[in-house]
Amino acid sequence: MAVLNRLDWYDLARDTNWTPRYVSDAQLFPEDLTCAFGLPAEAFAEYDEPYKTTYPEYVKVQREKDAGAYSVKAALERSKLYETASPGWLAVLKSHFGAIARGEYSASSAECRMVRFGRAPGMRNMATFGMMDEIRHSQIQLFFPHQYVSKDRQFDWAFKAYDTNEWAMIASRHFFDDMMVTRGAVGVGLMLTFAFETGFTNMQFLGLAADAAEAGDWSFSSLISSIQTDESRHAQIGGPLVQILVKNGKKAEAQRLIDISIWRAWKLFSILTGPAMDYYTPLEHRKQSFKEFMEEWIVGQFERSLLELGLDKPWYWNNFLQEINEQHHGMHLGVWFWRPTVWWNPAAGVSPAERQWLEEKYPGWNDTWGHCWDVITENALEGNMDQTLPVTLPVVCNMCQLPINYTPGPKWTMRDFPLTHAGRDYHFCSEGCRWVFEQEPSRYEGHLSLVDRFLAGQIQPPDLGGAVKYMGLAPGEMGDDALKFAWVEEVRAERLKKAS
Ligand code: MN
Ligand code: MN
Repeated sequence: MAVLNRLDWYDLARDTNWTPRYVSDAQLFPEDLTCAFGLPAEAFAEYDEPYKTTYPEYVKVQREKDAGAYSVKAALERSKLYETASPGWLAVLKSHFGAIARGEYSASSAECRMVRFGRAPGMRNMATFGMMDEIRHSQIQLFFPHQYVSKDRQFDWAFKAYDTNEWAMIASRHFFDDMMVTRGAVGVGLMLTFAFETGFTNMQFLGLAADAAEAGDWSFSSLISSIQTDESRHAQIGGPLVQILVKNGKKAEAQRLIDISIWRAWKLFSILTGPAMDYYTPLEHRKQSFKEFMEEWIVGQFERSLLELGLDKPWYWNNFLQEINEQHHGMHLGVWFWRPTVWWNPAAGVSPAERQWLEEKYPGWNDTWGHCWDVITENALEGNMDQTLPVTLPVVCNMCQLPINYTPGPKWTMRDFPLTHAGRDYHFCSEGCRWVFEQEPSRYEGHLSLVDRFLAGQIQPPDLGGAVKYMGLAPGEMGDDALKFAWVEEVRAERLKKAS
């Protein structure tokens, strides 16, 4: 049998469609699951995915990627990375795996929705590969940390975190469920693949891969680079959808879903990626500051792709540009202070040399965040360790579920953005988070934040101990200062040197 050349059969195979005869079109593609904004199937006929691959090509490439990542891991198995890695780097690994590994599986179900309810055959093809990608991402990011579980049970949170009510996990899940689990196919295409994947996952996966390579963690570096090559392929599902929607008079609808997703992704990154890059990664291995990464990947590249597709910058862009300079410092301080409530040991990252770096990258840091760390440092120097620990829970936002915090110091403007809806009071950290709620109150109104649950009596006893138990953190899993306060001794030594 003659074998056709790829070019001779590819378009035929990627464009397979059918006309339903036993059910109506609306039954086959219900609006809730399709999210076509009422556009007919013909509107999607122009869908043209920029990245075209066939199943045999996909399998060959994926096999090579897996072989590459797993063989780097096997080769480094005896290199004692766990024993020799800096405690801050271990914090990067643990926070990443816990927040991401099972979320990838959730992303697979989101891709499945596009496989079944995508209106264009090319979109369904791409999503089929995306669905398999995400299963691989979940498996590989559970397998890699598993080797460390016997040495350090915090690594068990790679698997465990998603099923707990740990507060950072509630925040991740709230966002992932919003964008991946509960949207129709086009909604997923815009919010997950276009906004989140072309915008943000580059940051987590290429930015951290660069830091990992600098830190000598080739296992992690090759793992997450191999994931990112999949992401950059299936992320391209969204672009053609934006073009179709803009062309057919649905620009406002597309813009709204993308704006929601960018804002929510930013909030999660301010707590996940910001501290990892600017505080946990050992100073000598930092490739760029978090802000520099954000400016390069999000402000530079992603902003351009928004405009090129005929969309506008989100309405909150100025707030966003201000926040990338500030917000993650507050998130980091919060995570470190409430460290018994996270599954990793956060590195304070404020030794004298690190503070100098922070001041260089974020002029004014010493006069703002630095003052909070001064108080913590003084308490630690005096041995008043209980004063470096929390007794209550922070006020959290009813959208991002993260602590509400603002830059301290002379310009301190602590603000709460309240809203009363259907007789219930909600508190938001920002105009952006309140705006997201207002777009679809029925979607979000029933959710209880950790503080709401506390006030509703769901957390017993109603103190930090009860909260830690509620979050599923067992002894040996609760976080502590990564360096066991060795950085305080550096401060002490420096002071003694100055005094003599
Ligand atoms: Mn993925
Ligand atoms: Mn993905």
